[in-house]
Amino acid sequence: MNSSSQPEIEGGVLIQGNQDTAVSYSVKEKQAKALYLPYMSGVSERNPQKTFYLETFGCQMNVHDSEKVVGRLVQEGYRQVETVEQADLILYNTCSIRDKAEQKVFHRLADYKKLQAQGKKFGVLGCVAQQEGEKVFERAPHVSMVCGSASYRNLPEMLVQIEAGKRATGLDDRQTDECFETEFTARTNPHRGYITIIEGCDKFCAYCVVPFTRGKERSRTSSSVLTEARQMADLGYTDIQLLGQNVNSYRDPEGKKTFAELLAAVGEVLGIKRVRFTTSHPRDFGRDIVEAIDTVPTLCDHVHLPVQSGSTRLLDAMQRLYTREQYLERIAWMKAAKRQISITTDVIVGFPGETEADFAETLSLLDEVEYDGVFSFKYSARPNTPALSLHDAIPEEEQSRRLEVLMSRQKDIQVARYRKYIGTTTEVMVEGFNEARRQWIGRTSQNKTLNFTASSEVAPKPGSYAQVRVTGSFPNSLLGEMVV
Ligand code: SAM
Ligand code: SF4
Repeated sequence: MNSSSQPEIEGGVLIQGNQDTAVSYSVKEKQAKALYLPYMSGVSERNPQKTFYLETFGCQMNVHDSEKVVGRLVQEGYRQVETVEQADLILYNTCSIRDKAEQKVFHRLADYKKLQAQGKKFGVLGCVAQQEGEKVFERAPHVSMVCGSASYRNLPEMLVQIEAGKRATGLDDRQTDECFETEFTARTNPHRGYITIIEGCDKFCAYCVVPFTRGKERSRTSSSVLTEARQMADLGYTDIQLLGQNVNSYRDPEGKKTFAELLAAVGEVLGIKRVRFTTSHPRDFGRDIVEAIDTVPTLCDHVHLPVQSGSTRLLDAMQRLYTREQYLERIAWMKAAKRQISITTDVIVGFPGETEADFAETLSLLDEVEYDGVFSFKYSARPNTPALSLHDAIPEEEQSRRLEVLMSRQKDIQVARYRKYIGTTTEVMVEGFNEARRQWIGRTSQNKTLNFTASSEVAPKPGSYAQVRVTGSFPNSLLGEMVV
């Protein structure tokens, strides 16, 4: 569950997401090709007739991986279609962060099993593929391809295998040093795009599958990140989001730039107006990041800093590598910044052994920090993770009760926080138009949704920037009028 604004999908792109949201990745084909062309060289003639459908589940990393997979498949001569029925190849890019997300994929596979009789082929990509490996073939025998995210570079050979009627498996065992580079990325939004700067995770929090599904931590060189940022700026992108499971654990393999220096350098690329980064890990969150936000105006004044729990005892059990006090110290750096930095977080309730007192500490942390948004989740036991061996599981009903209490407390905090913006004027990037409400949809630098009206003479274009005066507020969004 998410007590922050619900993920919004525009043109197939996840704008703000949590980790268990299924995103139908049905890209408008013409748009994808137009964006894709500048990166293309020698498209394969091997599969001129073949079509594929791709649905993505999960976080922004998965959404962006799907953009890379689409690019790779188009390069191989496949054409993307918008429905399962139109497709020869049906792909699911999966998430296994919680059990519910994993089950969704197997339900989806079961729903369409009958289409195998028409010769359609099925592939499972991403975290469930990596976690379950060849067991996917046992659970869903109509699947012919299983490929973890560290193996997408092998997709062309795997496609040849499945076209020949064989099964193809691409699994990585945390050994790869290669990042899945992006020369074939088919971005779906012409104004705002992701760049992965670091893959994998070496932190091994007690509850988390990511180190097993995404492999060891490996960063891209700052030169390659900056080359991609410049290419995007040349194509007209103005808003870039740097991605990583722990984006601020970035270590430049060339040793040229720290994470904060890389942020600043991307922010200084000509044409770039906004730079975001997610997700930051508290342990690696340095003061230099706050200083960069204060000095480089293109860096957005928003930091997502997952806390997971307000109790140091529980943070220790979760193997989070910081205490409540250390976390609050980082919050204090942000609150002392010259710019007003919006802060959001992730919280897990009902981790094994979480007492009422631990939970009360999480609630008091919400009061102390006054977050702009909280993504809150019930603990879900995951394969391979150390927390599986812990006793004192919290019953499901109690987990649900704590989640409700937490969401209600955070809603009150957000109502008060959002109200403070009334009367201010702020810049938004225009993301689209809501026909039903006759309102433009904007996003502030602080990552807040600001819906606004504008007179028909000055109607703004998606991707443009507008000044908007805030006239109203809700727990998850703002309302306003465009200022001419
Ligand atoms: N790397 C980031 C960090 O350490 O803060 C978080 C990335 S994780 C993919 C996204 C969020 O999923 C986590 O912050 C956590 O709140 C949630 N999560 C991860 N494993 C979970 C589990 N087993 N049960 C419930 N929530 C989980
Ligand atoms: Fe998972 Fe912890 Fe790594 Fe975040 S830091 S991805 S929560 S193991």
